[in-house]
Amino acid sequence: MTPPTSTSTSTPPTSASPAASSTAPDAAIKAAVAAVQSVRPAPTGYGGPQDFISRVGNFSIIESTLREGEQFANAFFDTETKIKIARALDEFGVEYIELTSPAASEQSRLDCIAIANLGLKAKILTHVRCHMDDARIAVETGVDGLDVVIGTSSFLREFSHGKDMTYITKQAIEVVEFIKSKGLEVRFSSEDSFRSDLVDLLNIYRAVDKIGVNRVGIADTVGCANPRQVYELVRTLRGVVSCDIECHFHNDTGCGIANAYAALEAGATHIDTSVLGIGERNGITALGGFCARMYVADRDYVMSKYKLHKLRDIENLVAEAVQIQVPFNNYITGYCAFTHKAGIHAKAILNNPSTYEILKPEDFGMTRYVSIGHRLTGWNAVKNRVQQLGLKLNDEDVKAVTAQIKELADVRPLNIDEVDTLLRRFHEDKKTGLDESPCMLTSDEEVDA
Ligand SMILES: [Zn+2]
Repeated sequence: MTPPTSTSTSTPPTSASPAASSTAPDAAIKAAVAAVQSVRPAPTGYGGPQDFISRVGNFSIIESTLREGEQFANAFFDTETKIKIARALDEFGVEYIELTSPAASEQSRLDCIAIANLGLKAKILTHVRCHMDDARIAVETGVDGLDVVIGTSSFLREFSHGKDMTYITKQAIEVVEFIKSKGLEVRFSSEDSFRSDLVDLLNIYRAVDKIGVNRVGIADTVGCANPRQVYELVRTLRGVVSCDIECHFHNDTGCGIANAYAALEAGATHIDTSVLGIGERNGITALGGFCARMYVADRDYVMSKYKLHKLRDIENLVAEAVQIQVPFNNYITGYCAFTHKAGIHAKAILNNPSTYEILKPEDFGMTRYVSIGHRLTGWNAVKNRVQQLGLKLNDEDVKAVTAQIKELADVRPLNIDEVDTLLRRFHEDKKTGLDESPCMLTSDEEVDA
């Protein structure tokens, strides 16, 4: 791809407020606005009386690249790679790192012991079936806590483990009490929660809450839930248990991040993520995208907890480990995440980046780019490049050379070296008086996409 040009950067606000209206709204609009405001908090205005349960500004990340991520088709992490990833996540600032069950294999058990003994700031969890055999192995590894899971949906009860709810509840209580007796943190989660019977779910969560479980977990194991369903289920659960609520969302229908956000709005406290969203099938809520979402909601909070500029290195580390490319449209670190192309966008961005950016690239260690070697370019963006190159051209000159770029780029896009060569040659020709009056733009109009 063409390396785009870097722009100078000024400081945009993280979100723009709507401009004040110049005309008075009529009665119908007033009533509609009042109705919306009575049920919906402002995008960044959490904490109002109707939104007291929201945890958008107070949550923890349970990073599951080393558990859910191991279920990604390409994943095979050797011990050294697991340790590198764990250290990188710890430096980034995630509160928890979740590891594959030590009951899965002997090497998994040894890796669990190794990572639990690294002395990281993040708490180390391992993810086990709701079974005493697994729990006994896991509590001996030195982890800080166990994430216990069992299938509660009618599908799993019928086609997977074949147990009824009375049996499941009895087993859950035994396992949770055992883990607590070892002084470890414990979460109890259902699997496929959104296709489980609501009364069954609430009953079992209440039972484990009563015996002091640290968290209950909701898992959209098949990626079927939408944000509204998530909000309703979490909010209902919030009214039934006093412990923390962890949520795990698969991304089969593209709702992984939106569902995590809705869960926090409804009072969930912990969100599962993985780097680049890797996991079973097409994965879960992506760490980077989740951070982008939460940054827009509460920039100061997110920046105080997480070293966002480390995101790119962590993603590259994991991408390399599982032999994939970071997708072009990845949140924050995709190659075009901060690239501006259309003339109107480029002009506005150069004046004030917040016009077309909700994330501030510098906060993530990224750079903003304005792409200019194409037929949608505008003379303001070209002028910016001229200034970066230290060339002395007046506005008429820049408009003239922009017209040349457009003419050439109508045939094929130009890379940045070709644009720079064109600009330098134009500048040289002007100095030596060889400029042959290239075609001029007819107006100051920029061309938008
Ligand atoms: Zn999962």
